[in-house]
Order: sequence, then structure tokens, then C-alpha cells
Amino acid sequence: MARRTRELKAQGKDIVSLSLGEPDYDTPDFIKEAAIQAIHDNVTHYPPVAGFPELREVISKKFKRDNQLNYDANQIVVSTGAKQSIANTVLSLINPGDEVLLPAPYWVSYIEIIKLAGGIPVIIYAGIEQDFKVKPEQIKQHMTEKSRLIIFSSPCNPTGTVYSRNELQALADVIKQSPDLLVLSDEIYEHIRFEGEHCSIASLDGMIDRTITVNGLSKSFAMTGWRLGYIGAPKWIADACDKFQGQITSGACTITQMAAIAALEADPERVQFMVEGFHKRRDLMLGLLKEIDGLKVNEPTGAFYIFPDISAFLNKKVGDCEIKSTIDLSMFLLDTVHLATVGGEAFGCNKSIRLSYATSEELIVEAVKRLKAGLEAISA
Ligand code: PMP
Repeated sequence: MARRTRELKAQGKDIVSLSLGEPDYDTPDFIKEAAIQAIHDNVTHYPPVAGFPELREVISKKFKRDNQLNYDANQIVVSTGAKQSIANTVLSLINPGDEVLLPAPYWVSYIEIIKLAGGIPVIIYAGIEQDFKVKPEQIKQHMTEKSRLIIFSSPCNPTGTVYSRNELQALADVIKQSPDLLVLSDEIYEHIRFEGEHCSIASLDGMIDRTITVNGLSKSFAMTGWRLGYIGAPKWIADACDKFQGQITSGACTITQMAAIAALEADPERVQFMVEGFHKRRDLMLGLLKEIDGLKVNEPTGAFYIFPDISAFLNKKVGDCEIKSTIDLSMFLLDTVHLATVGGEAFGCNKSIRLSYATSEELIVEAVKRLKAGLEAISA
């Protein structure tokens, strides 16, 4: 998709993209200033592998302030993005043959990291009719004595689904029935949520000792390029990740770590303007999508994605083009109406495509117009 997009752009085609997985906002100035100061202060030498003690202290306070979680600073490991935090955790915990429960649709990298570790991904599918949320009985059905870890994100990429406290409690009640099952809770979209409270599964009774809480700066603070993620985890897991990271990256960039202190010490209200922007755009896109015949949408309440079910447009032929999968559909939209989206197969779903609304209102309107034209051409 990316290559084809580049080719079409090189031919002078005007491509509208809903494929971005990052905020279109810039990093707030107060965070940038902390980084500039760090350069002037020569904070440019190797950091401790798990992160500067001041930053781990700030993260420990952030977990208490926002998530009612008690992780000591020595239970925190700072890494080069949440992606590395996830890789550290999975590669530290999973032995070949261990089963990892993976509610689908899932974020694309989870499955590849599990496979890299030699683990066996056990996919548990939740479709749009259940708001893309797995039910406790589905987890129970897939649990075996080899189940070692379950990985999910809430708010979720690619669906925008957010689990409520009660729903997480029901999942936790089942998970606790296995003595060996740990949870990797990816909360990187924590602040990008349009209703209700954010609940960390680790804050529920009996869960802190079996949960690795992953978070990072990329999404909530518009800092994808700075590369900073972190975990709060039981000490034995944090120690393993520290040991692993020591031989892989030696830790996150020092300047970014100083910027992270400014970001995480700040009142989350300071980045609320971005959340308000995403909320407005979600409403706009959702309203427009609902007008397209044959498209099924639910109401995502977080992150910046909508994951409409396009199965009514599959197994159709337009001219020479056969549309058998969501990837074929994405390619067709790119080639015919010059709209970039992401096929659901990448996320373990063969019925939806992912649309990101981290773009301007003007482009959202244009993009949905193109989507409608593309889908109408398929139905014609
Ligand atoms: N988890 C999820 C659910 C994500 O969407 C992303 C980024 N697309 C990441 C983790 C990785 O974030 P980072 O930039 O911190 O590596």
C-alpha cells in the first residue's frame, strides 16, 4: 500500500490518506522546550538502561495520579517506544510453544512479536456486532495450561473500542482462574477517549501482580518521532526487561527522557485540546459514514480510528479487478479514487478496513466522498 501510494504520488495523483497511525498535531511547545534545555545542559551521555531515576519517579507518580496504580520506580522500565516495551516484555516472558491469547482485531505488531519469540498466537475474534470486545466466556474457551499471556489495547488500535471497568472486571475474573496467565495491557491511547473514565486492568483486585501496563508518549502527546514508551510491571518482569534491553538498545534517548518528564508531570488537561479535536472529527466522519449504503459502523469511543465492516463489498468484480479481501478493497480504493486506507487483514479481521481520522476536517469530508464513490462503483 505504501509503495503504491508513493508511485501514484510520483505520477502527480492527489492521494488522500486515512492510513496514518499518528496524531497530525505537533508536539506541544512546553515539551519541546524541556528537550532543548536538556541539550544545553549536556544531558547527552548514556542513561541508565531502565531510564533516568527522575523519570521513573515521575512515571510512578503518573501511574498513581491517573490510574490508581502503585508501581515503585524500580518496577518501571523506560524504552524506545511502546513497541519496544511490548517486544521486551514478550521476548522476556514467552518461551517457544507458550500460548499467547490475542483478542482480534489486534494491533498488527503483537502477532509478529509473539511469533518472533516462538510463541503461539491464539486468536480470539470479536466482531463489530459485539463492538469488537471479547467476552469473558470466549477467553475461558481458549485458555489452556500453556496460556502464558493475553495482550490487548484499550482504547484499541484498530477499532477505537474502549473497555469499561465492568467489562475489564469480568475479563479479570476469568484470567485470575489461571495461576500462570499474565496480562499485557497496552494503554497508549489512554487520554484519547471521548466518554467515561479510563480503567487500567492492573488496578482491579488481584491484578497488579500479573499485569504489565504499557504506555508511551507517541499518541497522547503527539510525540511519535521522539520514541518513548514505558512499562509498570511486577519487579521480576521489570528486571528481565531491563536485562534484555541492556543488550539491545541500552535505553531511550536522553533528550527524549527529559522531554518525557515535562510531558508526564504536566496536567493531562494541557493536551486535552487534541482530544477535543479528535472527538469532533470522529463525530464528523461517523456521521458521513452512516450515509453510505452497505457499510456497517459502530461507535468507537477512543483512539482515532473507525473500523467499518465492508463485507457487503467483498467477492465482487469491477472490470478486471476481483475484490476478494479487505486488502484488495483497500488497493481498489487507492487505485480508483486515490484514497489510502488499511485493510483489516493486517489486524486479524477480514471484514473491515481501518480509517484514521487524525487528519483535517476538510480531508475527512473529501476522503469519505471518495470512499462513497469507490464503494458505489463496486455495487453498480
Ligand atoms: N500500541 C499500539 C496499540 C499502537 O497503536 C502503537 C503505535 N501505532 C504502539 C503500541 C507503538 O507506539 P510507539 O510509537 O510508542 O512505539
